[in-house]
Amino acid sequence: MAKRVVIAIGGNAILQPKQPAEFDIQMQNVRKSAEQIAKIEAMDYEIVLTHGNGPQVGNILQQNEIAKDVVPAFPLDACNGETQGSIGYMLEQSLKNTLRKNQSSANVATLLTEVEVDRNDPAFQNPSKPIGIFYSEEEAKQLQATKNWIMVEDAGRGYRRVVPSPMPSMIHGIDSIVHLLEQNIIVIAGGGGGIPVYQTNEGQLCGVEAVIDKDRTGRKLAEQVNADIFMILTDVSNVYINYGKPEQEKLQDISVTEAEKYLSDGHFSVGSMGPKIEAGIGFAKTGGTAIICALDEADLALQGKAGTRISYAS
Ligand code: ADP
Ligand code: MG
Repeated sequence: MAKRVVIAIGGNAILQPKQPAEFDIQMQNVRKSAEQIAKIEAMDYEIVLTHGNGPQVGNILQQNEIAKDVVPAFPLDACNGETQGSIGYMLEQSLKNTLRKNQSSANVATLLTEVEVDRNDPAFQNPSKPIGIFYSEEEAKQLQATKNWIMVEDAGRGYRRVVPSPMPSMIHGIDSIVHLLEQNIIVIAGGGGGIPVYQTNEGQLCGVEAVIDKDRTGRKLAEQVNADIFMILTDVSNVYINYGKPEQEKLQDISVTEAEKYLSDGHFSVGSMGPKIEAGIGFAKTGGTAIICALDEADLALQGKAGTRISYAS
């Protein structure tokens, strides 16, 4: 039986930090990612693909800000949905074209994904994720007063809106995802961490302005679709201890216990590698293997020849 893998690709796979955010440039990057994903498909895996949206949703927020007197700005949850559509389109088309070139019979579908969060998540009491553009102190005060935004001063660069970053508690549409996987269809889902929604007391879904970490959503997806492997593709070939120091050391196969120890010893940065390791540990605890590696070594990492693997008993 084909093994099932959930693959999370980082922002870099779509737009590198210093590149202009033009559509053609993003598309070019995405095509390279699609070639890697197609290689994995050719190795007979069922694939769920998820992706970040940091730079893209940032640009939508900036467009909203510039055009707000002409076109009403949509809330953050709707902006996330927009990026699931635009990034999903780029990934889906690139993948279909690559699969066709490779004479693969697999197909691709993008699913708009709502991800439920718990209204009592402590993150709602402590919004911490900065989003959108920088504002002056005066603008910040006004936004706080008129829109109830929480504004925070950011390292002397100005004021920025912060939103909660709650944990994903349940991903909607899992039955559809699994059904598509069984039909030889690669599924793109949970983009940008998913559209955050909560259930009202009447059991209705309602969007909420928050950002869910894409590595956490990836882990939840991997658990809910019963994946064998959860892969996080990023811009480093391995996870390291003492990263960036002369004595840095590459990690290859590690156990959950080792990973937990390195995490508590502070080897992984809070905003970048930390969430990946936490997500990897969480998934490995449910019995699967978590892999963190570079995008262009994904096929090798699946064969145990590259990357960092976390499993229960390594
Ligand atoms: P993505 O967009 O893929 O989520 P991030 O920038 O959030 O990428 O995370 C990847 C980055 O994590 C790497 O580029 C690296 O600079 C950083 N990093 C922090 N600590 C470590 C570590 N211990 N080992 C490897 N990379 C690390
Ligand atoms: Mg990241």
